[in-house]
Amino acid sequence: MLLNKSEFLFKQAQKFIPGGVNSPARAFKSVGGIPVFFKKAKGSIITDEDENEYIDYVGSWGPMILGHAYPPVIKAVQDASFNSTSFGAPTEIEIKMAELVRQMVPNVDRVRMVNSGTEACMSAIRVARGYTGKEKIIKFEGNYHGHGDSFLIKAGSGALTLGKPSSPGVTEGTAKDTLNANYNDLDSVEELLKKNKDNVAAIIVEPVAGNMGCIPPQPGFLEGLRELCDEHETVLIFDEVMTGFRLSRGGAQERYNVWADLVTYGKIIGGGLPVGAFGGKKEIMDVVAPVGDVYQAGTLSGNPLAMSAGFAQLSALDKHPEIYVELEEKTEYLKKRLQTVLNEHELDYYLNQVGSMISIFFTPEVVTDFKTANTTNQEFFKVFFHEMLKRGIYLPPSPFESWFLSNTLTYDMLDDTIQAADEALGIAKL
Ligand code: PLP
Repeated sequence: MLLNKSEFLFKQAQKFIPGGVNSPARAFKSVGGIPVFFKKAKGSIITDEDENEYIDYVGSWGPMILGHAYPPVIKAVQDASFNSTSFGAPTEIEIKMAELVRQMVPNVDRVRMVNSGTEACMSAIRVARGYTGKEKIIKFEGNYHGHGDSFLIKAGSGALTLGKPSSPGVTEGTAKDTLNANYNDLDSVEELLKKNKDNVAAIIVEPVAGNMGCIPPQPGFLEGLRELCDEHETVLIFDEVMTGFRLSRGGAQERYNVWADLVTYGKIIGGGLPVGAFGGKKEIMDVVAPVGDVYQAGTLSGNPLAMSAGFAQLSALDKHPEIYVELEEKTEYLKKRLQTVLNEHELDYYLNQVGSMISIFFTPEVVTDFKTANTTNQEFFKVFFHEMLKRGIYLPPSPFESWFLSNTLTYDMLDDTIQAADEALGIAKL
């Protein structure tokens, strides 16, 4: 497989763009080598600048649940664009979108559209602070909520200490208001709530973690968070940027039957255009300007192209819930066969799968949190990743990302993936 053009473009890109990429996860830092430059995709097949074709398990990091260039999305964008690309004024499609979100997720009484998952999460914690009058937030080590300053904090010397900035540019002042708990560990949350009595505005959580690889909530974890939030008058925020409209029509909330106070969305809700959203109970959302005083705004928020694309994609998911069943069957098929291959190679692994999210950890540990996720053999993953790439399988270029399946994957494609995995694992083992 030749990657001449990607190599050339990467060199050019580095002259003008920091690290040659507009988002670090694309840079192949954790797997090494040259990031592949793509030029087109259809369904689950993605084509690079050198005309190599791959089966895509990244799906633009989640949005492409119905495959690339899904015809109703493309048509919606084309049609909308003829009427102008932006008005900066209210449009009917925004109402249709909000109604549809409410229909799919019944506890979202009010929803505000933004332009990314980051914006959605930043806004949600501001709303929670405005609503409660409290200052601190609890997040979980290894969860990702975008690049807002408050989220770029990891635990100091253990999950129960006060946050320290984990990115230069984030001030100690900001860091001190972010408390880190351990995922799937309710005791760590309770301890933080007790130590910071009456001052925790929100707990924000990925209901199924996808940003340290896919890690499901242990039975009782989400229910426990719900109870703790009720007890401490703290706003429970589910960050459903990855899981929203993916794990079911109503996302992780519906799947686990645990309902948050606020929910954030991104990815699928925009059909591949830059969209995020936050919403929830009317009583809380009423603090948002212009009804309330909590300021939140955006020149391009509710953009007609983005709304049209998102509406087309969500409508298809809303009308065809069988898509979720089919997708889950395909993912389970992939999981079972991967397990067989991994067992045949006598490898230590832990495989997590929820709905159409799946990750392999190359470790003898049971992976339930950041610490155990970190035991994965990263060197092994690097070789595995590149051997898969050579065989035309495009996986997320990091051992700490979930794979995202699309309903356009066929069983033949899944079989090709398993065949490639068999060969790649054989080579990585050497
Ligand atoms: N929240 C979660 C759970 C995410 O996975 C991401 C991005 O991957 C974000 C928030 C940030 O979204 P965006 O990249 O659209 O800003």
